[in-house]
Amino acid sequence: MASSKRSVTIIGGGQSGLQLALGLQAKNFDVRVIQNRTADDIRTGKVLSSQCMFDTALQNERDLGINFWEAACPTVDSINIAVPAPDGSGKKAIDWNGKLDKPAQSVDQRVKIPGWMAEFEKRGGTIEIKDASIADLERYAAETDLVIVASGKGDIGKLFERDAGKSPYDKPQRALALTYVTGMTPRPGHSAVCFNLIPTVGEYFVFPALTTTGPCEIMVLEGIPGGPMDCWKDIRSPEEHLAKSKWILDTFLPWEAERCRNVQLTDDNGILAGAFAPTVRKPVGRLPSGRIVFGIGDAVVLNDPITGQGSNNASKCARVYMDAILARGDQDFDADWMQQTFDRFWGYAQLVTGWTNALLQPPPPHVINLLGAAQQFPVLAKRIANGFNDPTDFFPWFAVPEEADRYLKQLAA
Ligand SMILES: Cc1cc2nc3c(=O)[nH]c(=O)nc-3n(C[C@H](O)[C@H](O)[C@H](O)COP(=O)(O)OP(=O)(O)OC[C@H]3O[C@@H](n4cnc5c(N)ncnc54)[C@H](O)[C@@H]3O)c2cc1C
Repeated sequence: MASSKRSVTIIGGGQSGLQLALGLQAKNFDVRVIQNRTADDIRTGKVLSSQCMFDTALQNERDLGINFWEAACPTVDSINIAVPAPDGSGKKAIDWNGKLDKPAQSVDQRVKIPGWMAEFEKRGGTIEIKDASIADLERYAAETDLVIVASGKGDIGKLFERDAGKSPYDKPQRALALTYVTGMTPRPGHSAVCFNLIPTVGEYFVFPALTTTGPCEIMVLEGIPGGPMDCWKDIRSPEEHLAKSKWILDTFLPWEAERCRNVQLTDDNGILAGAFAPTVRKPVGRLPSGRIVFGIGDAVVLNDPITGQGSNNASKCARVYMDAILARGDQDFDADWMQQTFDRFWGYAQLVTGWTNALLQPPPPHVINLLGAAQQFPVLAKRIANGFNDPTDFFPWFAVPEEADRYLKQLAA
């Protein structure tokens, strides 16, 4: 073993960057994080995500002792799927609930990221507040053993080449919006991510979370481009944003509208609207000098939020990279090692990406059959629910029509 510490610079302190930074720090690495916003800017700024994380990803945080909000954060105990009846009667064509084996949780990144930044500094880490440029990356790559780019959707990530073979879409597939509220009527029984799939219009999902002011509910609205839920461009104020969110529920999902009679925004920054194209990039970035940097999380595997997997992926990616960095000992972090490390993560993430990209398309008959049959077979409902924790379990039966038919026959027998 080397007697001197190995040094790592991480560009971007989000889910993947800070989780990895805290993990490597605990293993005696010399870690520096470059973050383009101060903790105060993040805490008092706009919401960034709905960040619902399932048990395997949450366990990564427990393992590092950075699960500081676990006791305060409400739990998400199940997945509920509802589809409105096509006749416009306001009734449900599909409605079932599958219990999660272990709860999920969502801690507002405006709480988590400043908390982790403070912890990282408390444990002796260095954070530089700077919007890193390519010239900065050159300097970090010259100064440290490994540079990891964890910049999420930040522009610097474009230094990684788009992988066309892994990226079926070149345009946004949904108009996205978030609305953080208090005062929502809880669903009866246990808590849930309540997914509502509105054919040809979009999706709405909602679940409890912890924000800067305490417990809240996060409404996630996914509108098919050009449709009635693609409606955020002319919204000018937080009040209009909340009113538009409620209009969507009043129009398409009366049972969800009913829960929202008395909702209020958590704060004027508890809203977000935007769109991006799901994109997978090549993980090894080459700087003008020829030096290399390594991409992690959304910087290289950016999925639509429809399946709520981005933070989960970011956490799992950070775990795979950390194990590979530790296993590397004194050897160079060269391009082959980077590619192999990414490939190890991609072995998992390709299934998450495939599942997520499939759900952006109109559901094929076998998926409609599966979602319908889950009403009848609680074991199927439970399996679909727990697939959000480990989407590899969806394959092949959720993806391949013949496998779906075979599975349904088996359940019926
Ligand atoms: C509407 C919406 C809803 C979502 N809901 C969920 C969900 O329910 N569940 C889930 O698992 N995922 C969800 N996600 C996805 C999830 O938020 C992301 O996948 C996750 O945060 C990615 O983590 P990351 O570390 O890769 O990047 P990020 O968390 O985005 O962190 C990147 C960091 O890098 C900083 N940065 C960028 N460029 C630079 C630079 N040049 N220099 C220095 N710093 C820089 C940024 O400011 C930021 O702090 C959602 C996303 C959206 C948009």
